[in-house]
Amino acid sequence: KGDLMKGKKGVVTGVANHQSIAWGIASQLAAQGAEMSFLHLPGMERRVQPLAESIGVKSLAAVDVTDDASMDAAFATIEKDLGTIDFFVHSIAFANKDELKGSFVDNTTREGFLRAMDISAFSFVDCTRRAAKLMPNGGSVICMTYMGSERAIPNYNTMGVAKAALEASTRYAARDLGPKGIRVNAISAGAMRTLSLAGISGGRGMLAQGRAMSAMKEDTSMEGVAGCALWLLSDLGRSTTGEVVHVDAGFHIMGIGDDSEG
Ligand code: NAD
Repeated sequence: KGDLMKGKKGVVTGVANHQSIAWGIASQLAAQGAEMSFLHLPGMERRVQPLAESIGVKSLAAVDVTDDASMDAAFATIEKDLGTIDFFVHSIAFANKDELKGSFVDNTTREGFLRAMDISAFSFVDCTRRAAKLMPNGGSVICMTYMGSERAIPNYNTMGVAKAALEASTRYAARDLGPKGIRVNAISAGAMRTLSLAGISGGRGMLAQGRAMSAMKEDTSMEGVAGCALWLLSDLGRSTTGEVVHVDAGFHIMGIGDDSEG
């Protein structure tokens, strides 16, 4: 417990269950005194409400980021419940299961590609624009990404392309909003055991390989990811913007796996 977020209000998206990265981040923010609203996918109330209540979050709204009317309603609720905000956490991604396996070239459809881009990248631009309007005193926005944006990772496919767009969007948004005192950053987390990972063919392999290929030879921890979020969202991160911070036990710095060293 501490008071790094004392007096700060903001929004956390993407809590689906207790394994969600958004949940790890929200718990840490609450422990540091933040006041929050949760935006969750319609139909998830029964799962999300008890989690929210357990850390004192009273403001909840459903949102489907592909639907403008739903976004309008969700942000109206945020404004009603919180007034102005200081931070926003985007922790949302989706791609069709059929496209998260095998050949990227053969399996990627126009519909699937656009859907992954819409939910996983455009929604961040849309959320950031709307959140910035509620940040008259400056603020901090983060999104969640993965190294499949920078390198070709088996099965990650369309999602890797969407994550590249998400990271580029982070830089452009940081440039636009910098003069308003609003920082925009991305956290590139190593593979973690969540619902989203289960949707990727060979997700378990991603975990095992991530661990084996990491510099630290261990899994990425929720504490580490949430700690990075806390740094970026609190005043500790005050001069950092447009950055993609890797929190992956050193996975992204490695060249060739240890198997080939002997
Ligand atoms: P998760 O399934 O718990 O979270 C994904 C969230 O996206 C869910 O809460 C879901 O409800 C929400 N969502 C999906 N479509 C939506 C829509 N149309 N409108 C509103 N919300 C929608 O899984 P997670 O692993 O916590 O994923 C959170 C973020 O972290 C994602 O951006 C993911 O790509 C990223 N990430 C995950 C890993 C990993 O290994 N798990 C690694 C790096 C980055």
